[in-house]
Amino acid sequence: MAAGDEEQGFRPLDEASLVAYIRATPALAASLGGRVDGLAVKEVGDGNLNFVYIVTSDAGSVVVKQALPYIRCVGDSWPMTRERAYFEASALREHGRLCPDHVPEVYHFDRAMSLIGMRYIRPPHIILRKGLIAGVQYPLLADHMADYMAKTLFFTSLLYNSTTDHKKQVARYCENVEMCRLTEQVVFSDPYMVSKYNRWNSPLLDKDAEAVREDDGLKLEIGELKSMFIERAQALIHGDLHTGSIMVTPDSTQVIDPEFAFYAPMGYDIGAFLGNLILAYFAQDGHADEANDRKLISNGY
Ligand code: ADP
Ligand code: MG
Repeated sequence: MAAGDEEQGFRPLDEASLVAYIRATPALAASLGGRVDGLAVKEVGDGNLNFVYIVTSDAGSVVVKQALPYIRCVGDSWPMTRERAYFEASALREHGRLCPDHVPEVYHFDRAMSLIGMRYIRPPHIILRKGLIAGVQYPLLADHMADYMAKTLFFTSLLYNSTTDHKKQVARYCENVEMCRLTEQVVFSDPYMVSKYNRWNSPLLDKDAEAVREDDGLKLEIGELKSMFIERAQALIHGDLHTGSIMVTPDSTQVIDPEFAFYAPMGYDIGAFLGNLILAYFAQDGHADEANDRKLISNGY
């Protein structure tokens, strides 16, 4: 833990201390229907950055997400500000106000503890990436995501807001600078050079990775995109809108995990989502099996 965390009222929770925290927090207890004895707590653990607990009582449920001062999947060798939880809670609230059908409600936020309590997106919801890998079709996904992106991006841009309001919000989210720097590094720089955190299927793709590193035209284009990403405060973007940040059933689409939110080009969200669909499309051949050859389009299109 970083020096000073304890003085700031921060302590990392585990399943037992989380229960005590919930009992002492009326908004969380209320989401569980006030039944705080015999809670079932399960750490989900498939996230890359944070700790996520699903808590259920016989009268309700809540998801509790806590940010620690480092990146979970790398460990404390890669420190990362806990303030990301503040920006995630802020963006969930802002985007949730604009598009309540596709964003979970925030029940509780504790800035000192970097902790968010939000609606549990219940099964049969699964992470979209898993559904796409399994070959499930989502006929409403395009409508839902278009609705989500249109509302969250348009209504947080200057197409809708006054200059005064817009600049105030831009200034607020500028503080999410560490997360912006992380994206600048892992999306716009590392893949195009030799870097410690790069991974590919070696040796099969060694030549392809090298071709990317040596493509000056591509690097110039990426440099242009990076400069737009950093410089253009167009709308409050989600900032990490890949298929791992979307939970789905065939009827419902819920967008989670906007901890990278800040004012940037709308195209970053739109491109991340479409880019992930394109990757999923080209991966289908590799996932085809006897039960599902991935060729049949069952909804008539
Ligand atoms: P990270 O910021 O660490 O990537 P995520 O917000 O992506 O964390 O959450 C990690 C996992 O926890 C998700 O993949 C999902 O399975 C589960 N999860 C997160 N939020 C919810 C929620 N509100 N309802 C149900 N499951 C959730
Ligand atoms: Mg995530």
